[in-house]
Amino acid sequence: LARHNEQECRNRVVKCRLCHDDVVFSVLDRHDASMCVKRAVNCERCSEAMVYDQLGEHQSAAGGCAHADAVCTLGCGIIVWRTKMAAHTVSEDCVKRDVECDFHDEGGACKEHMPADTLPAHQADRCAYRQVACPLGCKLTMSARVLDAHTSTACVKRIVPCPNAGRGCAEELRAEQVETHVQTEAAPRKGGEPAACAFRYVPCR
Ligand SMILES: [Zn+2]
Ligand SMILES: [Zn+2]
Ligand SMILES: [Zn+2]
Ligand SMILES: [Zn+2]
Ligand SMILES: [Zn+2]
Ligand SMILES: [Zn+2]
Ligand SMILES: [Zn+2]
Repeated sequence: LARHNEQECRNRVVKCRLCHDDVVFSVLDRHDASMCVKRAVNCERCSEAMVYDQLGEHQSAAGGCAHADAVCTLGCGIIVWRTKMAAHTVSEDCVKRDVECDFHDEGGACKEHMPADTLPAHQADRCAYRQVACPLGCKLTMSARVLDAHTSTACVKRIVPCPNAGRGCAEELRAEQVETHVQTEAAPRKGGEPAACAFRYVPCR
């Protein structure tokens, strides 16, 4: 029985000659092939031969593997093989890849470059070419970059002084109402229309 236990029993414990761990004899083949930390392996990236427990260090950012890990150089946090960094930084996997804003109007285009993950906020709040509605209520939409010029010099809803201000009319009214206000024949007013200008020209009677 002693001889059986020491030399023949399939459940006897033996020492792995590589890692010196205690291993049950019946699983020694499996241990040698796929579990022993000192087994010989080839790096699956560069095919260099080494011992299994060196593989992690070899493939790490500080390791010697030609395809070692590298953290994205643009800062997205993804780890890729250093040999695949160039492809990563232009792929949709990388939220920090450079993109160009494609907003434009008749007069030009934004063309600003930025990290892809900041484009939505840029286009929603900051892009000079984003479309905005006139805040004065004229129902026009336009690029943000021309809004100030529109509301100060072009919008039909902007407030302007009466053209007869120089002759004494103190009225201020919406640009679209000026014509009605100063017209020679003061027609009966519809609701919401301005009063006839007291300083308008009228035919001599
Ligand atoms: Zn036995
Ligand atoms: Zn072993
Ligand atoms: Zn390698
Ligand atoms: Zn990235
Ligand atoms: Zn833009
Ligand atoms: Zn307007
Ligand atoms: Zn007036």
